[in-house]
Amino acid sequence: MSFYDHNFSDKKVLVRVDFNVPLDENFKITDDTRMKAALPTLNKIIADGGSAIIMSHLGRPKMGLEEKFSLKHLVSHLSELLNKEVKFCEDSIGEKAQKMASELKSGEILLLENLRFHKHETAGNLYFAEELSKLGDFYVNDAFGTAHRAHASTTMVANFFTGNKSFGNLLENEINSLEKVLSAPKKPFTAIIGGAKVSGKINVIENLMDKVTDIIIGGGMSYTFIKAQGGKIGSSLVEDNQISTAKEIIEKAEKFGVNLHIPSDTVIADAFSNEANTDECDIFHIPDGWMGLDIGQKSIEQFKEVVTNSSTILWNGPMGVFEMESFEKGTKAIAYSVVEATKNGCYSLIGGGDSVAAINKYELGDKVSYVSTGGGAMLEYLEGKELPGVIAIKQKEGFRLNEN
Ligand code: AMP
Repeated sequence: MSFYDHNFSDKKVLVRVDFNVPLDENFKITDDTRMKAALPTLNKIIADGGSAIIMSHLGRPKMGLEEKFSLKHLVSHLSELLNKEVKFCEDSIGEKAQKMASELKSGEILLLENLRFHKHETAGNLYFAEELSKLGDFYVNDAFGTAHRAHASTTMVANFFTGNKSFGNLLENEINSLEKVLSAPKKPFTAIIGGAKVSGKINVIENLMDKVTDIIIGGGMSYTFIKAQGGKIGSSLVEDNQISTAKEIIEKAEKFGVNLHIPSDTVIADAFSNEANTDECDIFHIPDGWMGLDIGQKSIEQFKEVVTNSSTILWNGPMGVFEMESFEKGTKAIAYSVVEATKNGCYSLIGGGDSVAAINKYELGDKVSYVSTGGGAMLEYLEGKELPGVIAIKQKEGFRLNEN
């Protein structure tokens, strides 16, 4: 049953969202993307005539209540976004929270204080989860960013809502888009994997091997692949303990008939700086004292050709140090060719913190099929892991993941 199939009329809906937004030193929200992402879910609950009890974490408080991590800083902005009064309770459990939740009328909103002010939240404590469950009669999880954690509010709380639980709109969209590329992707299916390290992406590459037609490798991790093949990489980023892994990936790709595209040339610099001297060279012959910080023009052309001919694209990780103007060309070119492929009917999913940052930098977010909001959660899903927060909603009966 989909989120939109539920009717929340007269329901008190306990909603887990991801309002983990960045705040400046005056507690002003500097990026409200995550808050906006939860609006469809909250608006549907209100429009149905339900009331919403919103719970979230913010940052990583270590010592209980810490002013800078209080969700009270979000109340006025949330109220603006929803065009509605938002009540606030300075605790997420207890008598006061229960009283405020029980007094909510149809269409009203209550935001609870940061869940992580209780250490029981991240411990996945069942008692704490039970206390949370007393606040509502229906549970909705819309926090994809924390769906890979078996925390009290993301997972354990679902134990107390057998039959009365659902994904929210955002979480449902995230899973559907991931399933679209993982379950029955239209071929050719290209995975573009970039970013800093092989070690961070190896499980994703392994899990995709029997699903994709092409894998493009870019970013810092490509130099480990070049070294594995006997290339000279100067002072480029390398993980010497992943050289055998890189070799294994090359062999596996051959075995699975996957076209593995590794850059053939690279933009090099004599320092890790936007102002460094730069040049372009064959990626197998990087001079000593120079490092590769972006893919070169030949690689851009090769990769563009693969990307624009794809029917499904999954992009995780930049092609170079795109944060610096001198080394953004490769990432930018790939971003534009993903857009072009999408225009031609390709399904494109962009995910993982830095590729999302890149696509946003070039303001192309609305020109690709789906931009995922969850970094770690998305990676784990792509690795083939079942996310606790997803199991908790799917499973009909109660369950126990970790009790403390
Ligand atoms: P990840 O979080 O693993 O996706 O890595 C993203 C980071 O990798 C970005 O901050 C990039 O600046 C960085 N990166 C990409 N290419 C390189 C490179 N050639 N050398 C060093 N860092 C890189």
